Amino acid sequence: EAKADGRATWRFFDPRMQQALDASAALEADLRLALIRQQLYLSYQPVVDRSARVTGVEALLRWTHPQRGEIGPAEFIPQAEKSELILELGEWVLEAACLQLVHWAASAPTAHLTMAVNVSARQFRQPGFIDQVLMVLQRTGADPRLLKLELTESMLLTDMDDVIGKMAALRAHGVGFALDDFGTGYSSLRYLKLLPIDQLKIDRSFVQDMLHSRHAASIVRAIVNLAYSLDLAVVAEGVETREQWTALEAIGCTAFQGYLFGRPAPILDADSMVGYASVHA
Ligand code: C2E
Ligand code: MG
Ligand code: MG
Ligand code: MG
Repeated sequence: EAKADGRATWRFFDPRMQQALDASAALEADLRLALIRQQLYLSYQPVVDRSARVTGVEALLRWTHPQRGEIGPAEFIPQAEKSELILELGEWVLEAACLQLVHWAASAPTAHLTMAVNVSARQFRQPGFIDQVLMVLQRTGADPRLLKLELTESMLLTDMDDVIGKMAALRAHGVGFALDDFGTGYSSLRYLKLLPIDQLKIDRSFVQDMLHSRHAASIVRAIVNLAYSLDLAVVAEGVETREQWTALEAIGCTAFQGYLFGRPAPILDADSMVGYASVHA
């Protein structure tokens, strides 16, 4: 309310700002309920080798909202990251992914499949992260050597000692690490060598552009060469066409993920994940 004494007045109330706040508070409340009411599920996207044989999957979080229908993680993970809700959500994802691993371990053809799980910055930075992962592994009985945690470059930039300590502790149990969306962040080479990672995932944007942009193609080639010189595996993300696949193979890339090999899908039949991906293009 404006005062009549002539001093500058501040408007605290902007209806549009209020609407945005209401919407984000509502989303957070809905998400809390979603955890309890089992509206969340994991979709799994295959990761394949040079012969399109499925070697593992990446778990991708999905939400069936009671009013809004299917909502993707890009819409609700950032909201969950604003509060400690992301810690619970992250643990739920880890547990669901590990339970799937245990299920696969029971039959020989699926027993070797790896499971990649995305970890959010806040989840990784929490002091109890090592225990969170180890406790889920223990509770579920999943083989740590089949679990790969995906981190992004930006979340590794601060407090390197803490980051390296956490990664080393989990690696000692066999857990692997991948750098997701690689090429979009700011990793220096020195720093890449310090981090105990196993794999670089080439960001989808470079793969998408590589056939019509020499610049993008050079970046892909540089990342592949960098991975080899650091003894890291390399996965190309977002492969949608046979032409992209061929170009990536020519550069020396050995692992692939993208709609060409399979879209993320909830697994009803574990056997559908075994063998060779049918190439959809
Ligand atoms: P990401 O980890 O880089 O996952 C790959 C994203 O690319 C997924 O989007 C996937 O559906 C999409 N994708 C895969 N292949 C193709 C392709 O050929 N073409 C195109 N256009 N897209 C493709 P999605 O599932 O919407 O996930 C978006 C991001 O949300 C993920 O990016 C990841 O950063 C985050 N995310 C997903 N699940 C989780 C989770 O459980 N926890 C956390 N913290 N983040 C998650
Ligand atoms: Mg990922
Ligand atoms: Mg990615
Ligand atoms: Mg991403």
